[in-house]
Amino acid sequence: MKSWEEYLNPQVASLPPSGIRRFFDLAAEMTGVISLGVGEPDFVTPWRIREACIYALERGYTMYTSNRGMKELRVAIARYLEDAFKLRYDPEKEILVTVGVSEALDLALRALLKPGDEVLIPDPAYVSYVPCTVLAGGVPVLLPTRMEEGFKITAEQVEKAVTSRTKVLLLAYPNNPTGAVLNRRELGEIAEVVKARDLLVISDEIYAQLTYEGEHVSIASLPGMRERTVVLQGFSKAFAMTGWRLGYAVGNETFIGAMTKIHQYTMLCAPITAQMAALEALKNGLEDMRQMVAQYAYRRRLVVNAFKEMGLPCPEPKGAFYAFPYVGGTGMSEEEFCEKLLLEEKVAVVPGTAFGPSGRGHIRCSFAASVKDLTEAFRRMKEFLRRHGVK
Ligand code: PLP
Repeated sequence: MKSWEEYLNPQVASLPPSGIRRFFDLAAEMTGVISLGVGEPDFVTPWRIREACIYALERGYTMYTSNRGMKELRVAIARYLEDAFKLRYDPEKEILVTVGVSEALDLALRALLKPGDEVLIPDPAYVSYVPCTVLAGGVPVLLPTRMEEGFKITAEQVEKAVTSRTKVLLLAYPNNPTGAVLNRRELGEIAEVVKARDLLVISDEIYAQLTYEGEHVSIASLPGMRERTVVLQGFSKAFAMTGWRLGYAVGNETFIGAMTKIHQYTMLCAPITAQMAALEALKNGLEDMRQMVAQYAYRRRLVVNAFKEMGLPCPEPKGAFYAFPYVGGTGMSEEEFCEKLLLEEKVAVVPGTAFGPSGRGHIRCSFAASVKDLTEAFRRMKEFLRRHGVK
């Protein structure tokens, strides 16, 4: 027998380990750690949603559903998207219910990419975009962003990055890890380049509901963009349902049809229990969601003020639940900062470089944590900076 490395698909073998995982492993061995490291709500799924799932099980909902997801859920998704974001999709043909946005992202890339097709990806951004692009045979092309420009990609930058192999622009706003959002004008300028250069857009809008100033604008709602865009949405963040694994993709009928083909062979359908819970979330859980978003909005102020007091430059997050302050001025690299903060003060945050090279010098600090934990974490962080001679 050869060594296992030789049997493995080289694309899989060459994937880098997650930059977040190392810190989780370290933190898992310690006690008393306050974690501001994970990207998940600290809330338990609202009771009415859990209860709907329990009740569904009692009534014997234990079977496969249709590949695209339960019709009633797709109808509820269509209604919700229209009410919330002015997006209109046909529940029969243009909506696919998936196992989280994670599956939707994977399907969208696999349905589209031929070997060597290039995908434009903002940097920094969510850790899965590059590996999923590579696994689908594509070539990730990073669009670096900077704190000074609010971590926003620009139309000019997209235009410059386009080559004859470019097929997709992967948009990710509100952005994980920076909290950046793009306004209607900025999206409009990008949309013009997308149309002129005949690109397609995968728009990961999982944090759309967590937009703190004004309304979330989906690029799919701009003139001429609906047909070229697949929007990915889900329940993990807004409804505190990470463990349920439920998301969806909406877009052009042929594109959604192609994603459904892969999904029907690989996944069959999303779990029926999660679909029943999601139906309840859309029917009766919107107020619960708003209350959680109000909590994040309050904590956002707390976090921004705390970093200001510590003298760490921190752009105000406009969406999602992360702050992305610059710690380069402390004389420590982002990796060093995170490791020392964890070992010395038992506060877990994530180095910005886990999300791409443009995260250099930054740390990601989640505010999906209780006010009590945030207050204590910032007390420890201040102590840490004082001890390291940073004012
Ligand atoms: N997209 C972004 C930007 C995320 O931050 C995450 C999770 O952190 C996901 C997608 C994955 O979402 P899901 O739980 O729906 O698979």
